[in-house]
Amino acid sequence: MKKVIFRMLVISVATATSLLMIQCNKTEDVTSSTENSAYTYVSPVEKAMLLEEGIGSVDGMDDIIECIYTCVNGMPYEDLSEGEIATLNYMREEEFLAHDVYVAMYDLYHIPVFNNISNSEFIHTTAIKAVMEKYELPDPAANHELGVFEDASIQALYDALVLQGAGSFQDALVVGATIEDVDIWDLMEHMENDVDNEDLTYVLGQLYHGSRNHMRAFTAHLTFQGLTYTPQYITQELYDEIINSGWEIGNGFCVCSGCATDDSGMIRTE
Ligand code: MN
Ligand code: MN
Repeated sequence: MKKVIFRMLVISVATATSLLMIQCNKTEDVTSSTENSAYTYVSPVEKAMLLEEGIGSVDGMDDIIECIYTCVNGMPYEDLSEGEIATLNYMREEEFLAHDVYVAMYDLYHIPVFNNISNSEFIHTTAIKAVMEKYELPDPAANHELGVFEDASIQALYDALVLQGAGSFQDALVVGATIEDVDIWDLMEHMENDVDNEDLTYVLGQLYHGSRNHMRAFTAHLTFQGLTYTPQYITQELYDEIINSGWEIGNGFCVCSGCATDDSGMIRTE
């Protein structure tokens, strides 16, 4: 039993570490600091407060959120197409869907992977919000409550996934993989068909890399449980490519082409 718990811990620490790396390479030495390599535990209650208050002050997250705004606002203003506005509205709630389901799964099973990844999803939805604020668009999730969505299809998906995940811990892991499956598919579709502005393209790219890492994390847990996930949205070929390749360390929101060098050590990388 101890061995099982240890393996779980290793997987979840690896997950948390990689999440931070993908999201924020503000530290020049991303591989060296273990203190900065994992999020501080954020309880669902604390996160609910964050939702109410906007940007909060939870360790790690507020630094990344600051980077997001610097990054997004540092890129050129470009007219938004209808497709880009629709993408923003949809992805704002879809990232909350992922966040809210993982909060519900963490409440049920208290497995760190759900807490770690829900923090990442909060950052993802905040990145979408940053673009909406830049263009002064109305935010469909301005008054977001856990598990409640404006978009009917997202609401239906949330309800179905929480019900499925309540079956067992193994079911919850399948739910996690399913959410990432949907998310990767939707992000690819939007990037290919709807979006060409620099800021939104960059944000969706970050979310895409994050989702691929999340898929690896859930697959690692499923494999440990002796289970195999069959993708329902992305192709088996893409799924295999993702799970058979290493963790992705993208530029992160803190090192983006729109970020000028400043005293905090941000680097311009274009
Ligand atoms: Mn996400
Ligand atoms: Mn995800």
